[in-house]
Amino acid sequence: MHSKENMAHSLWTRRAKPRWASRMQSLTKPMAMMRHWWLPIIILATTAVIVTPMAMAINVMKTRLTTGVGESLALAAADIAGKLDLLLAERYGDIQVMAKTPVFRGQDRAAMRETLAMIQEAYPVYLWLGVTDAQGRLIAATDHMSPRRNMSERPWFKAVKDRGTIAVLDAAETEESGGMLAVSIAAPVQGPHGKLQGVVAALVGVPVLEDVIVRTVVALQAQHGTEARIEYQFMRKDGTLIADSLLREEGRVNLKAMGLRSAHLIDAAPAGFIEETHARRREPVITGYARTQRSGYDFGLEWGILLRMDAREVLAPVTFLLWKLAAAGGILCLPLLGYLVWSTVRLNREWTRSESLIGDLRMAEAKLSDLAYYDQLTGLPNRRLFMELLPRAIARVSRTDRLGALLFLDMDRFKLINDTFGHVCADLLLSAFASRLKGCIRGADTVARLGGDEFTVLLEGLSWPEEAAGIAQRILNATAKPFEIQGREIFVSTSIGIATFASEHMSPDTLIANADMAMYEAKTRRGVYRFFSPSMKSITAERVDLEASLRQAVERNELVLHYQPQIDLRRGAVVGVEALVRWQHATHGLLHPGAFIGLAEETGLIVQVGEWVLRTACRQVKAWHEQGATHLRLAVNLSRAQMQCPNLVDLVRQVLEETGLAPACLELEITETLLIRNGDVALETLHALHGLGVRLSVDDFGTGYSSLNYIKNLPVHALKIDQSFVRDMVASAKDAMIVKTIVSLARALDLDIMAEGVETAEQRDLLLAEQCFAMQGYYFGRPAPAEDMSVTIFDCTAGELVG
Ligand code: C2E
Ligand code: MG
Ligand code: MG
Repeated sequence: MHSKENMAHSLWTRRAKPRWASRMQSLTKPMAMMRHWWLPIIILATTAVIVTPMAMAINVMKTRLTTGVGESLALAAADIAGKLDLLLAERYGDIQVMAKTPVFRGQDRAAMRETLAMIQEAYPVYLWLGVTDAQGRLIAATDHMSPRRNMSERPWFKAVKDRGTIAVLDAAETEESGGMLAVSIAAPVQGPHGKLQGVVAALVGVPVLEDVIVRTVVALQAQHGTEARIEYQFMRKDGTLIADSLLREEGRVNLKAMGLRSAHLIDAAPAGFIEETHARRREPVITGYARTQRSGYDFGLEWGILLRMDAREVLAPVTFLLWKLAAAGGILCLPLLGYLVWSTVRLNREWTRSESLIGDLRMAEAKLSDLAYYDQLTGLPNRRLFMELLPRAIARVSRTDRLGALLFLDMDRFKLINDTFGHVCADLLLSAFASRLKGCIRGADTVARLGGDEFTVLLEGLSWPEEAAGIAQRILNATAKPFEIQGREIFVSTSIGIATFASEHMSPDTLIANADMAMYEAKTRRGVYRFFSPSMKSITAERVDLEASLRQAVERNELVLHYQPQIDLRRGAVVGVEALVRWQHATHGLLHPGAFIGLAEETGLIVQVGEWVLRTACRQVKAWHEQGATHLRLAVNLSRAQMQCPNLVDLVRQVLEETGLAPACLELEITETLLIRNGDVALETLHALHGLGVRLSVDDFGTGYSSLNYIKNLPVHALKIDQSFVRDMVASAKDAMIVKTIVSLARALDLDIMAEGVETAEQRDLLLAEQCFAMQGYYFGRPAPAEDMSVTIFDCTAGELVG
């Protein structure tokens, strides 16, 4: 056995002798000969004055360094534990449903056997499935165990009989599972009046669960270099082993020795720490531990997954640091990670400030935490890990006859949520979003957070692209439900781009670019998914191109306004127009706002565009007033950047004066989310605009986060029900209900209401039935240039328009 010093020595001398050492030798030799009597004093003084604070600093950093890596292991372990929980939760649900199906309540043994076989076929996670009667006699099973065999002593049977509910039991080797480790899940089959009529039992094989672990271990190995030995142990609270990566390697494990240490570990439940020596190899090992225990379900399980890694992998930067310190001069005595590292070098007079040492340590620490492959906020794999998993997934899929799919997700208007509700709330939202996302996918799929509000989902083993669409839709549905964050309900929508892959020739970069392009396409609609198609490539190139030419568009007079009529069906007349901007692009033709407003907002050009729109539209409507349409109202959309612009109020006042349009005839449309942005600033602006005498309306109402309760305190006059509700109200009772609610509440608050996007007579009639009389939509007239609009205003009546 090595002594500590010996070990330290070997650690130290393993490296090639650094150049400074030989230089130093030539210096110390004559010095030692001439003045060797005071050398020990220098050494002692140095130790006291410089080394002690250094060693203290290093001591402090030491714990942080080690927990940093331990934490990444613990997070990986937590990820596995979470996946296992999910897997068991799914099985838990399955068996419950199974026990309720009529076939298990009936007498038909053959039918039972057939059903069990079908289930096993569909879900190979089940090693065995069986049904007993109330006394525990086997009625049917997936193997050939003799019927009427007595199962009443089986733990699952007893658990269900005693507790009367579903039971999930510890993993064990059983006869039914063929001696393999399996988790038993069982549920009661209930007869009339809830009487126990039998028990359905299933065994979930741990080898299947191991797949999940192996994937994570592979990912960790990618993180720490393929050389890194990462072991896992899957164990009970008492420290006994359920499964171990070493089992396959060596066939046998000293359960007792490991069990003892594991129990100790679990009780301490640290995020991760260094074990000084590994039981069998006497090497420093870093561990990370997480438990699997699903809240909300009483699994009665307390398993843990322990990941351990050879600490020397991680020590490399630290030993490098030691080398650097030594080179700088000084005597170092570092009790580092269980080893005592001694190094005696000559004092270098330039080395005076211990802060720079701390700085170096910080850098080393940053380097180590950089290594983390998991997003700290959501616990999901981060971009780096995702980028390593992706090529493996492509390679795996290309070896099968199945498809893979990459889903690229982006929350719509996340920046707005961030700005409106603050970072804390946005962070909480992101983690809640991540958990919902995880709930939508199968245990074997990967969800990663690339950063910000960008997530990816990696699916494998698909038979058809439609399966990816199904999952995308499931994600859209799950994330469309309101999130309750800090006592508020927040609604988000998500846009998803999907790119499928099958061949190994698909490069990860191309795949990502494809999914990203599809996501951009989805963004134009928001809250939908889109598959990548090759034609999107040119669209992206165009976008870059557009960005450059948008700057010149205003100067070159390429913007045009179209006007869409707004009808009041009580009066049967066109009462207003909404100005909608278009861009007459030299090569792309007439562009709609969807193609450039976002760009204009991003680049800040929207302020110029908005000013042009306001002035042009006011001038036009004033002209219509002068031609006789004296009460015609003008609606103009305001963007977020405009609302933030400090001189917005002055601009509106100035344009009204300049054009002579009566303020009461101008209605500024603001989207719901804008209202709550920056609280006071927005409120102040709204009040100032209100003070000018212009009307304010809330556009796309129902899609944002505000409640009518909030709106009632704002100086707004009208709500515009979002098109999506109008579009779907005929087919969806829920949307019809939303419309009904908005209309009646608006009435109670004395707000005007207008329905947008009315396209059919049916929609018109439903709206009329709800007493919503003001409408806008293709049914009455599409947005059109001013000349065409003049015809509508002066030559038609609304009756004609409608009829
Ligand atoms: P918005 O203010 O909600 O305008 C209504 C949009 O719905 C317009 O799209 C209009 O053409 C379309 N629409 C009207 N009736 C129907 C219908 O019956 N069915 C369907 N499917 N669509 C209908 P457009 O012109 O593409 O404008 C889209 C959005 O761009 C506008 O939504 C508005 O938010 C924004 N926008 C338009 N012009 C401006 C502008 O000058 N400034 C700013 N900041 N935003 C603008
Ligand atoms: Mg509008
Ligand atoms: Mg709208």
